[in-house]
Amino acid sequence: MRTRIFIDCDDTLIIYDNIACAWPDEPCEVHGHPFGVLRGETYKINEPLVASIKAYAYDNPCSLVIIWSGGGAQYARTIADIALPGIDVTTMIKDKTTFYMVRPGDIVVDDMSLDVPTKVYQPDEWAHTATTQKEIE
Ligand SMILES: [Mg+2]
Repeated sequence: MRTRIFIDCDDTLIIYDNIACAWPDEPCEVHGHPFGVLRGETYKINEPLVASIKAYAYDNPCSLVIIWSGGGAQYARTIADIALPGIDVTTMIKDKTTFYMVRPGDIVVDDMSLDVPTKVYQPDEWAHTATTQKEIE
């Protein structure tokens, strides 16, 4: 079966240095770090997750890698270009208009729980180890 993997952006593909964020009015534990990169928050790329995505895409050339975000497809593209430069990914908004795309058996990685019919892995939970000996760049 052609598999899809759905990867969130803020606090998943991008890990912010500060647990607290500067978003006004609401405590950050409610909303994470929306648009944190655009707002200048310092961050690190989730390198183990990036390595797993690359290995998965290499081992499953017919798979579809989707980088999605509640901040929309354009923000997801910004994050994909930072974390996965040169990797062919699709970007889209992550909300109730796209949750229906997720099927049982798809891989979903997100710091938040989502209303989708498959397991949602935490950002440090899912790992794919390359099945070939060839080193993946
Ligand atoms: Mg998130």
